[in-house]
Amino acid sequence: MSAYPRGDRALIRALNRSTVLNTVKNYGPVSRTEIAERTGLSVATISGITAELIESNFVFEKETGTSRGGRRPILLALNAKGGYVIGLKLAEDHITGALTDLEATVIASHTHAMKKKTAESAVEGLAYTVKELLAQRGIRRDQLIGVGVGLAGVIDTRNRVLRHSPIFGWREVSLGEMLEQRLKVPVYIDNDVNTLTQAEQWFGVGQGVDNFVVVTIGRGVGMGMVVNGQIYRGAHGGSGELGHTVLDPTGNVCNCGKRGCLETYVSDPALLRQAVPSIPGVSLLEDLSEKAIGGNELALDIFTKAGEALARGIGNLINVLSPELIIISGEGVRSGDVLFDPMRAALSKYVMPGLSEDTEVRIDDWDDDAWARGAASLVLSEIFESPLVREGAL
Ligand SMILES: [Zn+2]
Repeated sequence: MSAYPRGDRALIRALNRSTVLNTVKNYGPVSRTEIAERTGLSVATISGITAELIESNFVFEKETGTSRGGRRPILLALNAKGGYVIGLKLAEDHITGALTDLEATVIASHTHAMKKKTAESAVEGLAYTVKELLAQRGIRRDQLIGVGVGLAGVIDTRNRVLRHSPIFGWREVSLGEMLEQRLKVPVYIDNDVNTLTQAEQWFGVGQGVDNFVVVTIGRGVGMGMVVNGQIYRGAHGGSGELGHTVLDPTGNVCNCGKRGCLETYVSDPALLRQAVPSIPGVSLLEDLSEKAIGGNELALDIFTKAGEALARGIGNLINVLSPELIIISGEGVRSGDVLFDPMRAALSKYVMPGLSEDTEVRIDDWDDDAWARGAASLVLSEIFESPLVREGAL
């Protein structure tokens, strides 16, 4: 529930600020009159808020409106360069970082290799990457609004604690607090798939979609959910373990300790395990997809089975959630049609008749900055999100 009492003046002001800022972001350049029409707020309220937004550099005025006779109206637009944020993805042996402006456009990126797997050395590496990114573009520390960190694992976002991460073998690490003490700027952390989901919601194909799911494939299989316009995290931050739903209890052993999880059919290591050493010249997933595209029977068979397993996972998702949209993302989408043609062909076998037409399944164009840009959107959403959503009152 909300920490604010209803009717609290500061809350109302924060809500109006968020409404105006989002109207400028989504419809800008806009005049104050148009903001009033779109939001129902009074022109006096809007003038007060826009003055504050201009003062803080988030919004600027431009005189490019078309005149209806007389003076040309002054339009307001989001000032993309009014502040900067950094997103960091903490992976098993490296960190990728991106410096973005307020529109989530990446203006610098950096990859940092990590040798040790301790929380202290991770904080060290994260702080180093921030310094490096700022230096690349000559951005001052006081222009940095915040830093977002995404990583695999169960995360208590409110307390910024990593509760459990199988990849790192860490439990109860106050990662947010540790990094914030080092950097002296606000730090937000979340599960990496949730950060991608957040980025889709604010800046990607999830804009304006109230119910959608992001499924990531690559090293594992992850999932993020937006339900009624909000990221759904489960009661304790552990939702979305689609990769560990069991397809066959007699299947291969998964790294979670169970057998036959979806991940044991679809993840990169699972695909490579079937190919090496049977197919000569394959050591990376790219090699395997090249072989499949070139017509290698065994390679094609591996992707066909993976595509069918993925269809079962996605089909069950549609049966349970019936979302408007499922976005498939992650490094694994680079395999392309050799994986997704069999998936699309098999999907109707697993979806209840009548449900499949309601859900669009989209394959994302993957780029290497996506994880870090997702982490940056953790900070951007703090700037744009309504305080009621943040407090869980909506
Ligand atoms: Zn598993």
